Amino acid sequence: MSRYHRQELLPQLGEAGQQRLAASCVLIAGCGALGCTIADLLARAGVGRLRIIDRDLVETTNLQRQVLFSESDVGLPKATAAANRLRSVNSSIEIEAHVVDLNATSIKRLTTGCDVIVDGLDNFETRYLLNDLAVSTGVPFVYGGAVGTEGLSLAILPVTGGDSASPWSTDQSTACLRCLFPEPPAAGVTATCDTAGVLGPLAVTVAAHEAMQVIKILAGCLDDLDRSVLSIDAWRNDIRRLAPPSPNPDCPCCGQGQFEWLNGERGHQTTMLCGRDAVQVLPGTTAAPQADGHLQELSRRLSAHGTFTCRDGVLRGTLREERSDAGDPIELTVFEDLRAMVGRIESSERARAIYDRYIGA
Ligand SMILES: [Zn+2]
Repeated sequence: MSRYHRQELLPQLGEAGQQRLAASCVLIAGCGALGCTIADLLARAGVGRLRIIDRDLVETTNLQRQVLFSESDVGLPKATAAANRLRSVNSSIEIEAHVVDLNATSIKRLTTGCDVIVDGLDNFETRYLLNDLAVSTGVPFVYGGAVGTEGLSLAILPVTGGDSASPWSTDQSTACLRCLFPEPPAAGVTATCDTAGVLGPLAVTVAAHEAMQVIKILAGCLDDLDRSVLSIDAWRNDIRRLAPPSPNPDCPCCGQGQFEWLNGERGHQTTMLCGRDAVQVLPGTTAAPQADGHLQELSRRLSAHGTFTCRDGVLRGTLREERSDAGDPIELTVFEDLRAMVGRIESSERARAIYDRYIGA
């Protein structure tokens, strides 16, 4: 009997729906609380290929809600740890782990061939980038967010997908993220999981709604899609479905076709990382893929300046000659794409300077 028997029993899916799932590729952007649950549900449901993208490492404070990780995963890249776990959940599907930053440079390569993009992110900048990509290419994008006790979810079928060649009509197209929120919130204004906290059951609820929407899209059941904005306050027991927003002709993205994040006009080369007392620095140029062993080579070079080890595709250590304001050695973590996290640092300018000095352009 098929391992998917219990969902194939559903007349809405059946064996034909299951085959559609098996032939699909879903990009899961971000593998925190939302991404873990989404990936777990879609792997179990038999989506043929999951592409998991996350730039960060597993921390102890993630274990409260990020259901794919164990204590032994702390310090590993999240995408790698998630893929390891999911391969033991379902060995019959393909799982790709990408330990990279999703940005205007990397996004086209990372989204090639995916049928749906689903949001497990913790920042608006990358969401707007994905929204630009979705609208400009006509790929469905399922937005979701959860912080504190509140969560939101919305499936986006871009208006640009509503031509005769795509599986949905203009009438079925939805508003995009920028129809809803024309501009991202200013830095430091919004609550984040690190300042406001977040509840595990809330994140799982939002993620389950996102995963359900993905399954309906992949199965071609677009009439059954929840077109409203799902809004949840898990503590006040308030679950609402807000009226489906219509595409706004004045929307800079889906109305006017301005893809500012995708073009790289907006976005940063350095980012203060959510709750990590660290700054992420991207390589200054779009370097060609590095030869194998370049991290070991860098590790040898850096050993003149501090203590470094290279394991699981991550180089990490401390710099002897660079100190924080409090006098602690500056921490440096470098990934295979030469993206770095500079820890115990007080400004992104200094993080950039340290990157240029020790890793180079
Ligand atoms: Zn729009």
